[in-house]
Amino acid sequence: MIVPFSGGCACGAIRYRCSAEPAFSWNCHCRDCQRASGSAFCPVLYVPRTALTVTGRSTYYDVKAESGNNVSRGFCSQCGSPVFIQAELVPHLQGLWAASLDNPSLFQPQVHVWTDCAQPWDYMTPTLAKIGKAPNAEQMQKLLTSR
Ligand SMILES: [Zn+2]
Ligand SMILES: [Zn+2]
Repeated sequence: MIVPFSGGCACGAIRYRCSAEPAFSWNCHCRDCQRASGSAFCPVLYVPRTALTVTGRSTYYDVKAESGNNVSRGFCSQCGSPVFIQAELVPHLQGLWAASLDNPSLFQPQVHVWTDCAQPWDYMTPTLAKIGKAPNAEQMQKLLTSR
């Protein structure tokens, strides 16, 4: 991915700029991501928090993910766009919803996760690996080192 890259919500109240490559990117098909997106999955890239500059204020909604970890979802209270995800699983990283990117075609998912919860009308990229639930420590390590 070309850095820096930028993005924001639909109305422009929230903007961000990131100066580092994503640590990992995935499509999460868990029920919580389905609810948060109103769709089949959440396409998200996780970047180092220290590389992110944000303007505007997000409203955060905290949920207990199916993994048992806490997840905090940041969205714009004016236009409703989901923009950020803070996951207890990776506290030093911040998730960015792929479609919040100014150039969403830059998003390169590495894996599908929580595919056990995927809907029958969901379509998954056949060339990507699938993990039924949350990745285990070994799978997570592999993700972080094989970009
Ligand atoms: Zn907005
Ligand atoms: Zn999810």
